[in-house]
Amino acid sequence: VQFSDYAISDGILEALKALGYNSPTNIQKEVLPVLLAGKNAVVKAPTGSGKTAAFAIPICESIEWEENAPQALVLEPTRELSVQVSDEIFHIGRKRRLKVPAVFGGFPVDKQIQTLRQKSHIVVGTPGRVMDLVRRDSLKLDKIKWLILDEADLMLDMGFVDEVKEICALIPKGCRISLFSATLKPEIQELVDEFIRDMVPIIV
Ligand code: AMP
Repeated sequence: VQFSDYAISDGILEALKALGYNSPTNIQKEVLPVLLAGKNAVVKAPTGSGKTAAFAIPICESIEWEENAPQALVLEPTRELSVQVSDEIFHIGRKRRLKVPAVFGGFPVDKQIQTLRQKSHIVVGTPGRVMDLVRRDSLKLDKIKWLILDEADLMLDMGFVDEVKEICALIPKGCRISLFSATLKPEIQELVDEFIRDMVPIIV
């Protein structure tokens, strides 16, 4: 299977080539068809499996450039992961000039508020800072059509369970939610049962 076998546009295929992604990893082969078909995925997979591209490709495909409010929100447990994942999504969406700001705690909130005043297509961040920015009316969730709970077990370990649930409850009805986690312990299963519909379980 090649990336070109999926419904992926030329700009993104070129970006994948430039990144040196010559063929899909196992997790990408499982997740891409599910997300490209409009369903949600609940994925048990370790870090390093290529899961970022597995959700970034379908998200980048579906972003409407002209829309002024964020259309996708990716939650991460740490600042480092937020920056790394936002960077990878940016590179995958490079030809489309997508704006992919990262927002995280331990960094002046004012700068992030300024960043969010500009066009932001995909926001990547830690749940605490995301909720802070939502409460300040800086981050608008009303156009969000994708929510990704990445490294869900680590997010819960970091104590973000309330913020994650709050965000799941605040996004528009009909928003797609997918979850990626190294383990599917009971607390994760609870989140899945409460918030994720039309989902395909994938274990890699
Ligand atoms: P992730 O699990 O998303 O953190 O990805 C792990 C590493 O694999 C990252 O450094 C990616 O740049 C790389 N990667 C992702 N997809 C592919 C692919 N299809 N071919 C080669 N490398 C990839």
